Amino acid sequence: MRVYNFSSGPSVLPLKVLEKAAAAMTDANNTGQSVMEMSHRSGDFKPIIEGAEKSLREAMKIPDNYRVLFLQGGASLQFSMVPLNIAAVETGAPRKKITFIDTGVWAQKAAEEAAKFADVTVAASSKDKNYSYIPQNVKASSGDAYFHITLNNTIVGTKWPYLPETGTVPLVSDISSCILSEPLDVSKFGILYAGAQKNLGPAGTTVVIVRDDLIGRAPSWTPALLRYDIHAGEGSMYNTPPCWGIYIIGLVLDWVKEQGGVEALGVINRQKAGMLYSYLESSKNFVSPVEKTSRSLMNITFTSREKDPERKKAIETAFPKEAAAAGLVNLAGHRLVGGMRASIYNAMPVEGIKALIAFMEKFESKL
Ligand code: PMP
Repeated sequence: MRVYNFSSGPSVLPLKVLEKAAAAMTDANNTGQSVMEMSHRSGDFKPIIEGAEKSLREAMKIPDNYRVLFLQGGASLQFSMVPLNIAAVETGAPRKKITFIDTGVWAQKAAEEAAKFADVTVAASSKDKNYSYIPQNVKASSGDAYFHITLNNTIVGTKWPYLPETGTVPLVSDISSCILSEPLDVSKFGILYAGAQKNLGPAGTTVVIVRDDLIGRAPSWTPALLRYDIHAGEGSMYNTPPCWGIYIIGLVLDWVKEQGGVEALGVINRQKAGMLYSYLESSKNFVSPVEKTSRSLMNITFTSREKDPERKKAIETAFPKEAAAAGLVNLAGHRLVGGMRASIYNAMPVEGIKALIAFMEKFESKL
């Protein structure tokens, strides 16, 4: 029996994709081989990687002056690769500057890593209110190597409700937990990156979308495998790419197209998130800690309204356990923030949201 899986990542994938992959496990596209067994340089794999890129370009309307790279190392490696490629300088040259906005753990990790290669300024932070909102009116300093935001903050459940104007400073964003969740104007960004394990496919593949003019700026001491120009020049095949992950991403993108594309998914995602948020607003026990204007469509965090700390803790421990026993799994909040979190990525059906709300109603009626 399939459960409703609310994991923040790796997370639910469309059943149809899993079934297609299962059917092709030992013989993909009549090649007599599994994709896992194919030479990445073979004519069998070529259409798989080219197809995945073409589908991603179509789904996200990626302009021609951007390159799509399928890499490894997760979003976390991009915390290092982005500054290495567009902010680091030759030995002895004056360090460049980067501006970050601190919206929680992933933004901080990106900033910490970047500080090894350039001078980092944190221009705004929502730490004062436990990261429950996205700072307004943020400003880029002209001359900066880039301006970094985490578009959707997986742990606290916030999402940027607007894109900051950065002028000529390239806007760079981590879109790990919101890629393909709704339309996004790629042309507003210099670099976008995402670990695949939420809306795209299995863990192990990272997608980087980088504007042409930002490729080829890495200092000479940069290791080859960390250079965008090398990966772009070799069509993501400087070394063996994460073949299986790229194959599944291609299947997920076929599914996205069948759903009506990112526009249609955006509408459904608003409905799904809207159902949960409106339930949380009316609930006697549960509450969303996030400011209304900064709510994520993908990661919906909630806590118990209970005032007594002991009882609150007991409720928040019992809820995910009881939910799991009822087939609704992975609802505990991130270990750093506690509480509860329902990650409702593209592949979570509306029925899953209805089942969760029904379970929450039943749970709170017993309190
Ligand atoms: N950024 C965001 C927004 C994330 O949600 C995560 C993982 N949940 C990461 C970065 C780290 O990704 P990875 O494990 O792929 O390095």
